[in-house]
Amino acid sequence: MGRITLENVTKTFGDVTVIPPLNLTIEDGEFVVFVGPSGCGKSTLLRLIAGLEDVSGGQIRIDGEDATNLAPAKRKLAMVFQSYALYPHMTVRKNIAFPMKMAGIDQAEQDRRIEAAAKALNLTDYLERRPGQLSGGQRQRVAIGRAIVREPSAFLFDEPLSNLDAALRVGMRMEISELHKKLATTMVYVTHDQVEAMTMADKIVVLQAGVIEQVGSPLDLYRAPRNRFVAGFIGSPK
Ligand code: ADP
Ligand code: MG
Repeated sequence: MGRITLENVTKTFGDVTVIPPLNLTIEDGEFVVFVGPSGCGKSTLLRLIAGLEDVSGGQIRIDGEDATNLAPAKRKLAMVFQSYALYPHMTVRKNIAFPMKMAGIDQAEQDRRIEAAAKALNLTDYLERRPGQLSGGQRQRVAIGRAIVREPSAFLFDEPLSNLDAALRVGMRMEISELHKKLATTMVYVTHDQVEAMTMADKIVVLQAGVIEQVGSPLDLYRAPRNRFVAGFIGSPK
């Protein structure tokens, strides 16, 4: 589960085209990174996949099903943002439980999933704390925990580490990569940071002005950048 295909997907805001017709396949279990400069359409593309924005044209399929007009909650995707959007008055446990409560999942199952998520994220000792008593990295883990318990077929991350300092960012990158290995679930990860892209991705999608300049593994892009933009962006010679 977790295969996502975009067929001729477009997005316009008013008369401005942000995404011209775009085609992309994200394979089940893949870690795909959308990378490109600020304003190139990374967040828009992720929001289209999540259903937080409607496409202006084209089709989105998730696990073979036409999801183009499906409400976000029905897409079985979980989005993690850079602003963790945790509830400050709730404990970590309650923050993580919240989406399950909304979905009407019974208490025993909620507890089981919380324990599993806390274990995977090294949060077991922090479940009764409030977000204000946690470090930035721990808060980001709670936000990821809240996504995990929904058992989505894919995770969507929008620059999740951009609020963290450089040292913490490196640690969190490794944690997210390890989590990907553990869960073996599709992850789509947006960043403007080429190092993040090169170190985390199975497949990198390089975007410029809403257009895919190249899709490939980090090694493909490094060895054979298709044009100067890609070469310049990932910092390899050409
Ligand atoms: P990125 O995430 O790569 O920085 P975005 O997807 O946020 O880029 O934005 C891509 C372009 O779409 C930008 O020019 C931005 O101004 C525009 N845009 C994004 N959302 C909206 C919106 N709701 N209304 C109008 N323009 C938007
Ligand atoms: Mg963005």
